[in-house]
Amino acid sequence: MICTPIAASTPDDLLAALPVAAAAADWLELRLDALHNLSVEAVLRALHHVLPRRPRPVVVTFRPREQGGFRDLSHADRLRFWHSALTTPAEAFDLETDLIAPLLPTYPPDHPVWARVVVSHHDFQATPADIHAFALAHFPPHAGTVKLAVKVNQPDDVCRLFDWLTGTPSATPSTWQKIPVGMGGLGVLTRILGPAYGARWTYSTGHDGRAVAPGQLTATELRETFRLSSLDRHTIVAGLLGCPVAHSLSKDLHNAAFAHLGLNWVYIPVEVSPDDLAPFLRDAIHPRTRRLPWTVGGYSVTLPHKVAILPYLDRLTAMAARVGAVNTILVSGQELIGDNTDVAGAMRPLQQRFAVEGEPVAVLGAGGAAQAVVCGLVAAGAQVTVFARHPARAQDLGARFDVPIVPLDDFHGRRFVGLVNTTPVGMAGYAEGACPVPPERLEGLAWVYDLIYRPRHTALLQAASQQGIATLDGLPMLIAQAAEQLARWTGRDVPETILFAAAERALHSVRPAP
Ligand code: NAP
Repeated sequence: MICTPIAASTPDDLLAALPVAAAAADWLELRLDALHNLSVEAVLRALHHVLPRRPRPVVVTFRPREQGGFRDLSHADRLRFWHSALTTPAEAFDLETDLIAPLLPTYPPDHPVWARVVVSHHDFQATPADIHAFALAHFPPHAGTVKLAVKVNQPDDVCRLFDWLTGTPSATPSTWQKIPVGMGGLGVLTRILGPAYGARWTYSTGHDGRAVAPGQLTATELRETFRLSSLDRHTIVAGLLGCPVAHSLSKDLHNAAFAHLGLNWVYIPVEVSPDDLAPFLRDAIHPRTRRLPWTVGGYSVTLPHKVAILPYLDRLTAMAARVGAVNTILVSGQELIGDNTDVAGAMRPLQQRFAVEGEPVAVLGAGGAAQAVVCGLVAAGAQVTVFARHPARAQDLGARFDVPIVPLDDFHGRRFVGLVNTTPVGMAGYAEGACPVPPERLEGLAWVYDLIYRPRHTALLQAASQQGIATLDGLPMLIAQAAEQLARWTGRDVPETILFAAAERALHSVRPAP
């Protein structure tokens, strides 16, 4: 169940938003505290006007600023509002915990309205240490639903939220439906997997795509990318560990592949800071120690963890050991194995287009992607030279693969057949429109391969095309390394056309800024 908040500033906008929000949502949250400059009576009139026109069940919310709402509200205003609002036929009412006691004289615990009440507690700083005890102390036993929206600061917080959701200590009222909401990067697991483990619903961003709480996903993403309605306790969980992960296309590729193959798997990118890497591996992934209730199928690894993760794995494949970096975690029995599909991903599209054996090839940059490219090129018999803006930093790479490291300014295409750009120069958000080497220095090359895929046609590739040089962009590498990961996790091959279509869709969809 997906609940989409509508935070409109006027009653007319609220009405107009109903069908928009209803397109992908199961429930609508009417954030009446977002209505600007209206008296309590005017807000109630708006509610009475909207309710007969609701296309989905609604939960009514009227939250004061100090509890995360949009406006200042006195305690007396809130009570006046709720005394009247609770008599309406809305399907649910979200009441903050401090309102329960004052409402009891009018609505005693056995009053039927409590079945429609969601009692909520918000904490934008932390998760309670003992959630079961906290819930028993703060949520009334007669509430139909209880919601805990809290900031998760560490993997342990996520584990305890799932423990609360799935556990039923004897003192917990058995009638409670629960909604755990983990706010922040790690909280994405509660947002996507909560309903599969019994949460009454999960909140999406607002109907206009803007987040009304940190970490929300759009209703369309939840429904179409993550296939929320088909997830259950048998769903196998894969994902991406990185920081940041928001702009990764991996979720689009892998989830489209799972859907195409009919696999009950989901792929969830999780923003894991360097400090959280070891605890996340322990609590959420490692088969010997994990505390979260699902089966883990495998993980992708991206910046900044590709090397930092090595000490926490039980062993490495020969390829990961040769590259010295891991982009794929395999779960095998009780072991975590580090693998690397970047080499195959980089080389497969390249070798499908151009012959490299015995050819002189220049590699620009000496970072993580360069390691995989150099490893693959050397194994394929190319004569590799690495050009780096800080050659001293690249000495390890040179020594590991026995290739020369040369200052970037010394690059000239006449000495090479092919050029691979592994620097981010030209990437969206990083010197977009710039070329990592002066365009006139490309002269003499037969082909140029740019690992950047956003945009696909970088300034470097445009300059090469203009000079009649063959080009290859970074999207086929992204697709190929994902296809390799999928095959290693699931034993299944997915047609690359499915992955290309998913990538194209994601590259062309624009998400509004939060
Ligand atoms: P990285 O580890 O940060 O390495 C970047 C390299 O580029 C470093 O050697 C860095 O040099 C150099 N560099 C950065 N800015 C530069 C500049 N202005 N001029 C010259 N050199 C510069 O990053 P990465 O993981 O290797 O990724 C690099 C690029 O490859 C990114 O655009 C990424 O999107 C792309 N990539 C694509 C795929 C794919 O599937 N298509 C996969 C992986 C990566 P210093 O050491 O001096 O900073």
